[in-house]
Amino acid sequence: MTHISLKPQLVFDCFAEINKVPRRSKHEEKIIAFLQDFGKKLGLETVTDETGNVIIRKPATAGYEHLETVILQSHMDMVCEPSDGSFDFDNNPIETYIDGEWMKAKGTTLGADDGIGMAMEMALLASDDIPHGPIECVFTRDEETGLTGAMGMKPGFMTGRLLINLDSEDEGQIFVSCAGGVRTTATYPCPMEALPEGFLTFTLSVKNLKGGHSGDDINKKRANANKLLVRFVCDEMEKTDLRIVDIQSGGLHNAIPRDGRVTVAVPAAFKEQLRVDLNLYAADVEEEFQVTEKEVAFDLESAAPATEAMKPEAARRMMLSLRTLHNGIFAMSQDLDWLVETSSNLASIRKEANGIVVTTSQRSSVKSNLLNMAATVRAAFELGGATAVTNEGYPGWKMNPNSRLLAVARESYQRLFGEEPKILAIHAGLECGLFSEKYPGLDMVSFGPTLRGVHSPEERLHIPSVEKVWNHLLDILIHI
Ligand SMILES: [Zn+2]
Repeated sequence: MTHISLKPQLVFDCFAEINKVPRRSKHEEKIIAFLQDFGKKLGLETVTDETGNVIIRKPATAGYEHLETVILQSHMDMVCEPSDGSFDFDNNPIETYIDGEWMKAKGTTLGADDGIGMAMEMALLASDDIPHGPIECVFTRDEETGLTGAMGMKPGFMTGRLLINLDSEDEGQIFVSCAGGVRTTATYPCPMEALPEGFLTFTLSVKNLKGGHSGDDINKKRANANKLLVRFVCDEMEKTDLRIVDIQSGGLHNAIPRDGRVTVAVPAAFKEQLRVDLNLYAADVEEEFQVTEKEVAFDLESAAPATEAMKPEAARRMMLSLRTLHNGIFAMSQDLDWLVETSSNLASIRKEANGIVVTTSQRSSVKSNLLNMAATVRAAFELGGATAVTNEGYPGWKMNPNSRLLAVARESYQRLFGEEPKILAIHAGLECGLFSEKYPGLDMVSFGPTLRGVHSPEERLHIPSVEKVWNHLLDILIHI
């Protein structure tokens, strides 16, 4: 029987303590009380802000008083899956077990996202034999369902100017940038009129696309179901008197749409042509996406005869505007050539009681470009006769090529492990984006042990990666 030891033991002991405390997102009372108690028992300055974020400060150990304060940060909440009520997360501890090199939970999420980050902070606070300068350990609330803690944190709560976020999921990778995001929603007027005699009604659909996350997967060259439908409908509108009866396409605002359907009516004489055109179009799309969308399928079915349809002029303006609407990558990063800097996703198009409602999301790691992307999207909507609104969203974190913390983290990793860490950025939101807005000039990096299957009952923690990250962290603390 193979047996893997849980090293560093202090970190795993702290993680075991955390797992006894309920900490479902938005229900963090018990874990807040636990952290307050933990800090006070150690005799350390422990402060909770009005949002529920907890900070525990520990002075430097002897001989390291000259070092600059380092903030260590994790989030205290966890995703609780399964969420069907079969496990009572508000009262039961998470039970863990070891499977080879991995730690898992019995039938639930493990909560190593971000409990293992919390455990490293607690281990440092509890230790009496680890050298370090002054540290501020920050535990934020409700990262997972709204970034509530980071959003509510006031300037001045953290006092350090160097921050290590311990919420990344691949050992050997150091994150230095994330995207900010906004959502832009448009409503097109949808005046209806009676359908003339002699029209046939069809449902046109596309399905089996890969979809994915509108940030992380936007560079994967996948097709957007809404865009595929809009393009075909526009082409057919040029050939015949095609009317739009209904449209229900796409899904969640942060997902690349996998399927969609539009109900159209065409003059009876055009019926065969419509079918032929769709077959030709499907062949084109299959060829265009022969690598990424092998399963794409179009369908044209006769539908119950419609009695009314959108007025042709309004429908045409709307479809042309949706055709011009930018979708996908808009700009690549100036600093990191593989990184998507700015993008937009056409998430859904739905006929509702008040008109045709279109949902899109924009992301960028550069604030001015995020605003420009959203304005560009609104321009296409407004030219098509829609009203469009962009929400406040959340800010991004722009890479600082002169980061001192990154230089130290990189040198340390190289020296300890004999290889270069990967320096990465993500095209999605992190708490660091909010910190960079509230604490201008804050120098940050993000890293952590390897996790797989996060946010699902498959969540697992790679045990050996914890010791590597821990050693890396301790080394950074004495070399900063
Ligand atoms: Zn997390």
